[in-house]
Formats: sequence, structure tokens, C-alpha cells
Amino acid sequence: MGGTFDPIHHGHLVAASEVASVFDLDEVVFVPTGEPWQKSNRDVASAEHRYLMTVIATAANPRFTVSRVDIDRPGPTYTIDTLRDLAAQRPEAELFFITGADAMAQIMGWKDVEELWRLAHFVGVTRPGHELPVLDRNDVSLMEVPAMSISSTDCRERVRTGHPVWYLVPDGVVQYIGKYKLYN
Ligand code: ATP
Ligand code: MG
Repeated sequence: MGGTFDPIHHGHLVAASEVASVFDLDEVVFVPTGEPWQKSNRDVASAEHRYLMTVIATAANPRFTVSRVDIDRPGPTYTIDTLRDLAAQRPEAELFFITGADAMAQIMGWKDVEELWRLAHFVGVTRPGHELPVLDRNDVSLMEVPAMSISSTDCRERVRTGHPVWYLVPDGVVQYIGKYKLYN
């Protein structure tokens, strides 16, 4: 599951957990982006902060891991490189790529989308406020996950304006944001 994770929140975690359960996945690898080229119009917390928050949020789940492939690769992050790197690290693995409805709709507009779909089975999950694209192909799955009306944008805005993010993000992430005064 790729994402900016700025910060990681319970919407990400529920989606990952639900897809892992339905598809009987051995592992969910969270991959924080390096420089997110779609978001270059705003300041993004450093890759190290986003990576550490993702580690904190996933630490208790034995099937959840975090990969540094995107943050250690110089330059903007492209999902094709993410999938190639993960495939090289796990040559025996069957790869799935978990994405929310908004990201799924974006991905379908990319020019190398057929190659992406050869590298991994894409799973698009429902997200409140976004329509899942209609798709008629069996190499891409669309599935409903428990609705979590949470976004990182909203979490950042809440922190900036002094509103709580308790229970929107894991407790350790609330404390991490406070400790390093992120999003102020
Ligand atoms: P931002 O508001 O900064 O864009 P975000 O909440 O959309 O943050 P991302 O890191 O951009 O989080 O998302 C990573 C992936 O998780 C994307 O595929 C996105 O669609 C999915 N996702 C994010 N929030 C949810 C949610 N509440 N429910 C389901 N999927 C989600
Ligand atoms: Mg987003």
C-alpha cells in the first residue's frame, strides 16, 4: 500500500486490514512516498517523519511492515518503480497494490497503467466522498471497506487549528506529531 502517509491514519489501516483479510495476504507492506510529485504544491513532512509515523502505526500488527524503497530512491516517486523494487526484493511473491477510490481513479489516467497492472493485482477500495471507477476487467478488484471519513489533509488542518486528532490516527502518531511539532 503506497501513500504519502502525512500522517498515516485509521482510514489507511482499516483499508489495509480489510484487504489483507479478504485476499488472505501474508504481509501488507506500507510504502511511504519519497517526493510526492502530485503534491509538490504543498509542504510535505520529511520522508523520515512520515516513515517513522508509519512504523509506529503498524508496529503492533505482525503482518504489517514498512518499506523504505520509495524514500531511499532519489527523485520523484513513481508507482512503477515501487512495484519493480518490491518484486526484485520478493521474487516469489504475488503482489497486490492497495489503493483508495480517489487514487485508483488517478492511476487509471496514467500512461503506463497496463504495465502497472501486469506487475501487481490492483485492489481499489471504497472511500467516503469518492466514487470507485467502474471497471470491467478481472485483473483489477474493487471492494468495499468500512467507511472511515478521515484524510491526512483533514488531520493536518486539525493539528494546525488546535483541534484533536485522537482516534483519527493511532495514539503513538498523535504523540509523535506533538513531540516534533508537525503541522503547526
Ligand atoms: P492527503 O489528504 O494528504 O492526500 P490521504 O488521506 O488521501 O492524504 P494518502 O497518503 O494520500 O492519504 O493515501 C494513501 C492511500 O490510502 C491512497 O490510495 C488513498 O486513496 C487511500 N486512503 C486514504 N484515506 C483513506 C480512507 N479514509 N479510506 C480508504 N482509503 C483511503
Ligand atoms: Mg490522498
